[in-house]
Amino acid sequence: MSAQKNRFGLSRTISAEIKRSVRQACGFGCVICGSSIIDYEHVDPEFSEATEHCAKCIALLCPTCHGYVTRGVWSKQKVKEALASPKCRQTGFSFGSWDFGMNHPSIQFGGLTLRSCIVPVLVQQTPLFAIQRPEVEGGPFRLSANFCNSNGNLILQIQDNEWQASSDSWDVEFSGGAITIRERRGQQCLRLKADPPYGLVVERLDMLLLGKRFIGSPTQLEVIAPNRKMTFTGTIADECVVGLALM
Ligand SMILES: [Zn+2]
Repeated sequence: MSAQKNRFGLSRTISAEIKRSVRQACGFGCVICGSSIIDYEHVDPEFSEATEHCAKCIALLCPTCHGYVTRGVWSKQKVKEALASPKCRQTGFSFGSWDFGMNHPSIQFGGLTLRSCIVPVLVQQTPLFAIQRPEVEGGPFRLSANFCNSNGNLILQIQDNEWQASSDSWDVEFSGGAITIRERRGQQCLRLKADPPYGLVVERLDMLLLGKRFIGSPTQLEVIAPNRKMTFTGTIADECVVGLALM
């Protein structure tokens, strides 16, 4: 697909800069429904008539909404109207959901591995992650979590496996099963990857929560509190009520 060109010689490949501008304008989700699972679609003009990739002509569309339009169930005018007033800019978030199957999800949190914990991480009586058992037999385990950026602002909320990513962030990118949230160019305040159906992996973190700074990488977690710094690496909590409790 990427090698395809239209009659004006325009390639389908859209630069990373233009894609980011489109994400920012659309609030990081489908302009019609707000889903985080998106493709970049030329809307006005359509790709066949486009002579350049300009951010304000391109919409984020999820495969479902795109299908309604390409099959003629919804009008192209509906997409143009949604591009002018994107769903995520109305609601303030894009959304999606994780699949953990019927297993108790495990969490990789920087250098910590947290398996079968009810509250994998507790910060001053507030669960950073919490996992509830299935409501009905055969139902899914339900994970909830809250993540802030380095200023302490809520950027991603997970409630019973459904996530909402704030449209106030500088950039939210969902790709390859991972959500990456940036506060500025070249920085990642959160990179969260699905490991379906086993759990979640927090690959990068730069978060201020309840007066503590959390710096996470794939191999270690640093927690910096006033007058104290803790480093966790290669730590495993298995079958605990609380995996890690920070006072
Ligand atoms: Zn949609």
